[in-house]
Amino acid sequence: MRFSGLRVLKEGLTGNKGWQSHWRDATPKSEYDVVIIGGGGHGLSTAYYLAKEHGITNVAVLEKGYLGGGNIGRNTTIVRANYFLPGNSEFYSHSLKLWEGLEEDLNYNIMHSQRGQIALFHNDGQRDAAIRRGNAIRNQGDDAELLSVSDLRRILPYLDYEQARFPIYGGILQRRAGTARHDAVAWGYARGASDRGVDLIQNCEVTGIDTEGGAATGVHTTRGAIKAKKVAIIVAGRSGQVAAMANMRLPIESHVLQAFVSEGLKPCIDHVVSFGMGHFYISQSDKGGLVFGGDLDMYASYAARGNLPLVEHVMEAGMTLMPMIGKAKVLRSWGGIMDMTPDGSPIIDKTHIDGLYLDAGWCYGGFKAAPASGNCMAHLMATDNYHPAATKFRLDRFATGRHLMDEEGTGAQHNLH
Ligand SMILES: Cc1cc2nc3c(=O)[nH]c(=O)nc-3n(C[C@H](O)[C@H](O)[C@H](O)COP(=O)(O)OP(=O)(O)OC[C@H]3O[C@@H](n4cnc5c(N)ncnc54)[C@H](O)[C@@H]3O)c2cc1C
Repeated sequence: MRFSGLRVLKEGLTGNKGWQSHWRDATPKSEYDVVIIGGGGHGLSTAYYLAKEHGITNVAVLEKGYLGGGNIGRNTTIVRANYFLPGNSEFYSHSLKLWEGLEEDLNYNIMHSQRGQIALFHNDGQRDAAIRRGNAIRNQGDDAELLSVSDLRRILPYLDYEQARFPIYGGILQRRAGTARHDAVAWGYARGASDRGVDLIQNCEVTGIDTEGGAATGVHTTRGAIKAKKVAIIVAGRSGQVAAMANMRLPIESHVLQAFVSEGLKPCIDHVVSFGMGHFYISQSDKGGLVFGGDLDMYASYAARGNLPLVEHVMEAGMTLMPMIGKAKVLRSWGGIMDMTPDGSPIIDKTHIDGLYLDAGWCYGGFKAAPASGNCMAHLMATDNYHPAATKFRLDRFATGRHLMDEEGTGAQHNLH
């Protein structure tokens, strides 16, 4: 079933009776070439690119809940390619290019909106760092523009420019950055993978990983045992628990990250804006809600819900930056479980077990990575070679201490990222 304007018109005129399910609800077979554990954004996009680009379709995606019920449907939807360090920068650049063609590729409206992201800075040191980052982004081939305070006063008139404590010195704008509708991304990849023959199996929790002679041979699930030539762990916040099924201990801690949405308002915030002096960022959804968030709840947890001290922290930062936000009512908040690595950068790699692959460590930024993560993971699984855009996301960097990519510059320590 192809989506088009004409199709919407025809269905509208004929009682909307011709729409079909977006994907097949498959029953597990006893054996697959590839089993992907985790039906989030990264698992689904890996399945999609395995089928589309490598012709590998005897694939099952096993999801313990429902497709899109994890972080892929819980994030604040920001898509950008403004990473600084080699390793990350070419990867997120690759991802942004995939985003730009994704709606046509999937024939699915993911509401990709390149409304621009503005990161504010508040002192000379931050300005230097922003300029350096901007130059690196431009050298990578992506866009970055330096904005003065007068530019900002024109573009973002609602910020508090009279703040004595955190004066706004300027900002750095990436015009191609923006947002996309998160769950539509999961649905679009699910539909594309299912159309190509991939089995998407919901309510199917993986409870064990089988190995024999140093090679992965399959998985145990709540819906029976499944044999597989290759197994991929792509479970975001549950990476540590699932890897433990193969007796692996990962350099990952899971932390809660919260987000908030206000009541629907008339359009007032055109961009994605982030505060440089506190953890706070905001955009406005197409429904009118202000979508915003801040820092992690700073303790390890598997509870996908947040706690009040961070709520207070985020609200204070919002009020400091844009006092007008105090008039809006918060409609709801939620949390997701983030797979935090010591250097804040991800892992796309083979493991010491033949045929067992790992895609994890997305921290609080893996939504924007979903296309490139799936694309590069599929390449790795199909060819056993690293995709040119993802050569540095190696698991062994944490054992050797070499080639760490500390994007935030906060030190290779779990609780600082
Ligand atoms: C509040 C919040 C805001 C965020 N904002 C942004 C943002 O603005 N921009 C950005 O780039 N990123 C953002 N992120 C991060 C991003 O959402 C994640 O990094 C990314 O979604 C993780 O990858 P995923 O989509 O594959 O994860 P998930 O959707 O969590 O997929 C993992 C899946 O694995 C399944 N699973 C786990 N264990 C098992 C098992 N044993 N058997 C079977 N299935 C299993 C889970 O049920 C889940 O569906 C945010 C996250 C949160 C929580």
